[in-house]
Amino acid sequence: MSKEKTRKDALNYHSKPQPGKIKVVPTKPYATQRDLALAYSPGVAEPCLEIKKDNDKVYRYTAKGNIVAIISNGTAVLGLGDIGPEASKPVMEGKSLLFKIFADIDGIDIELDTKDVDKFVETVKIIAPTFGGINLEDIKAPEAFEIERRLKEELDIPVMHDDQHGTAIISAAALLNALELTGKDIAKVRIVISGAGAAAVSCTRLYKAFGAKGENIVMLDSKGVIRKDREGLSTEKLEFASDRKIDTLEEAMEKADVFIGLSIADIVTPEMLRSMTKNPIVFAMANPDPEISYALACKTRDDIIMATGRSDHPNQVNNVLGFPFIFRGALDVRATSINEAMKMAAVKALARLAKEPVPEQVNIAYGETRLTFGKDYIIPKPFDPRLIAEIPPAVAQAAMESGVAKEPITDWEHYKEELLQ
Ligand code: NAP
Ligand code: MG
Repeated sequence: MSKEKTRKDALNYHSKPQPGKIKVVPTKPYATQRDLALAYSPGVAEPCLEIKKDNDKVYRYTAKGNIVAIISNGTAVLGLGDIGPEASKPVMEGKSLLFKIFADIDGIDIELDTKDVDKFVETVKIIAPTFGGINLEDIKAPEAFEIERRLKEELDIPVMHDDQHGTAIISAAALLNALELTGKDIAKVRIVISGAGAAAVSCTRLYKAFGAKGENIVMLDSKGVIRKDREGLSTEKLEFASDRKIDTLEEAMEKADVFIGLSIADIVTPEMLRSMTKNPIVFAMANPDPEISYALACKTRDDIIMATGRSDHPNQVNNVLGFPFIFRGALDVRATSINEAMKMAAVKALARLAKEPVPEQVNIAYGETRLTFGKDYIIPKPFDPRLIAEIPPAVAQAAMESGVAKEPITDWEHYKEELLQ
């Protein structure tokens, strides 16, 4: 499709038949005078009084438990950068649409007109009583790190910055499967991380939680290899600084087993790929254009396992595989946070699902004949109906085991049936 045609289609899609992508729909009868007397005055006073006696009852009598706020200040939107709160609204509405269709969660987009960390945190805390969870979105690093850390500390509902953890969870699942396919050990592989921003930092933390060793990791930013002896490193960069006396991507790629790209387009060359070990794992996730194009990478090495952030190639690292299902699981046990155990459970569930036989309807949805676990299918596809049945229970169970579930699930069969409805 031509760029101009896509532009027109996208603008039409967003403006017609009514502006935007979401709306609010009542869930209770409202046809009669009696209905209205229950919905509003005088009936509504009864649940108000119940909740006043016991705040937790807000989950029984209001929609709080199924509403997630999608909050941005528009400072790091897609690959578009700092475009401001209004211009970020289509993305946040899009996220709401995805929450709804994949996990039946009501996502309310909230765009804040501030770049000030204190004001941002204070505002979210003030509006938090409305929501069952907070999805932070498209906020620039390093502010995003502090905003998320503080909100997690200060709120007792799940808070997740999806740009960090969504990517980390999906790519970790893909990485575990790629390592399994190539018979490599996560504790031994040499990993190059290009990028040291929100996504790269949280991906690397999660890979380490799964056993990757700090001494085997080299991270690069726009100035080259992040070495321990470099001056003025942020806390996050210092965490991944290398002892090795190298400076360039070219040097780092030599004999590396894994390349993780969360930086910018076209910085990896065929020569660099050729200098990697046998069966190299290359996740070039810069959007919309990867660190090396899919076609060039596959042409250069036929033993490569390649993933990108794009939907037009196999192995798309797409956050939609994560956030709807992770929040579903967290909300369903009324988790007070989304912790490491829950994220790791989501990773394992995603990795496991990719190894199961693929239902015919998934093949059909993607115009494939037979998707099977292998180098071109290392993570599930977003339209796989098994995601909703598999990921939320894994997350919910991890929440219960790690002691953050306020309403543990007792009947798992019933819960799974509900998820599939
Ligand atoms: P970010 O916070 O702005 O970080 C970008 C990082 O890239 C910075 O650390 C920057 O270095 C570094 N960088 C810039 N030029 C570089 C170069 N030539 N070599 C190495 N590093 C370089 O952005 P982000 O949210 O982490 O996202 C980074 C990229 O990943 C974007 O392209 C984004 O679209 C992509 N991404 C993809 C997915 C996905 O596929 N699902 C998910 C999330 C993000 P400095 O620190 O020196 O500025
Ligand atoms: Mg985002």
